Amino acid sequence: MSNEVSSLALLGGEPAFDRVLPVGQLNWPEWQDIEKTFHGIFDRRYYTNHGPLTEQLEDRLARHLGVRHALCMTNATIGLMIAAVALSLKGKVIVPGFTFVASAQSISWAGLEPVFCDVDAATHQISVKHVESLIDDDVSAIMGVHLWGNPCDITSLGQIAGRHGIPVYYDAAQAFGSSFGDRLVAGFGELEVISFHATKVMNSMEGGCVCTDDDELAARLRNIRSSYGSGPPVPIPFTGNGRFSEAQAAMALLSLDQFSANDKRNHQNWHRYKDRLAQIEGLRIPDLVAGSHSNEQYVVFEVDENGYGLDRDQLTRILHAENINCRGYFTPGLHRSYPYADWYPQYRYELPVTDDLCQKVMQLPSGQSISCSDIDQICSLILQVHHHAPEIRRRLRNT
Ligand SMILES: *Cc1c(COP(=O)(O)O)cnc(C)c1O
Repeated sequence: MSNEVSSLALLGGEPAFDRVLPVGQLNWPEWQDIEKTFHGIFDRRYYTNHGPLTEQLEDRLARHLGVRHALCMTNATIGLMIAAVALSLKGKVIVPGFTFVASAQSISWAGLEPVFCDVDAATHQISVKHVESLIDDDVSAIMGVHLWGNPCDITSLGQIAGRHGIPVYYDAAQAFGSSFGDRLVAGFGELEVISFHATKVMNSMEGGCVCTDDDELAARLRNIRSSYGSGPPVPIPFTGNGRFSEAQAAMALLSLDQFSANDKRNHQNWHRYKDRLAQIEGLRIPDLVAGSHSNEQYVVFEVDENGYGLDRDQLTRILHAENINCRGYFTPGLHRSYPYADWYPQYRYELPVTDDLCQKVMQLPSGQSISCSDIDQICSLILQVHHHAPEIRRRLRNT
């Protein structure tokens, strides 16, 4: 037994993997295909302002996602910032405390104040009960987030927003390909913002898109993004530069071609992990909101120290030493992060579920570069560590 414990890299053994397994998707097209599309860009000597590849991409995205408008932007963060201005929001916007920092920062950049909301313990999604209790006359919108690519409770958020006469929009950065009921994420609320960052299933070497069915809102978004020639001017408070380049469009078109293969792999990877991890005491995979379907691009679970024997941070250290680049995700919550902890100290003790999940949640590698046997090896390591948890805990105390 102690033999096996000593073979852990953190306790002096060799790492299980001789290359570092990345945690994000990092899906790449073939070099020959990229080269071909780049020839076109160089031949045209045109790489910006809504070129032919961007136009083609926006058209394909809108059809794929089933929305009237898919407006490509520099990245999803810029998309969220532009969205807040285009929606003419005032005062405060409700946002979950358990999300990537860009969700709240986009609100601050637009001159608005985030109101931090807790999440549901079972699903990790924005707590609809807590949302309703936070609405007052200064709140002008709700931002839902589809965390882990799992859609949040779109039906309930829509009902609450309707009762109070305020809009809902979504940070759908992680949810390309996810759906709710019979509709893909992209078509819900006033608008949804999807990311094409390297760690996401669709990737354009930085990029994102803002999706909406509302023609007037789309015209404002286009004008604020500032794509000359891509629509008539409409009144807006100010423009920015959220333009999407032809280089990004070339990458995104190839990524879209690959999407169904990458999506299928994510599905297989996720279920392979789930089948193995669900049997280990103390590990828990978050539930889906009823009626939703996830793109399963994030392999995320909770580590309960009491059942598993080690806490999330100890397990993360052990796996890192094995060259498995897992990570504790979203820690601390936004309400306890810079600068929000100082700006809005009133939320400090108001988000107990977020605080708890920030100690427990971790993400494991998936995506193109992770094979089935990698997953089997990672899961059997996690199981072995659980079996020898008391001894490992003792040894870690002494290192
Ligand atoms: C990735 C991500 C973003 C930011 O997307 P970028 O395209 O990198 O700007 C925003 N919100 C969430 C929830 C994300 O996961």
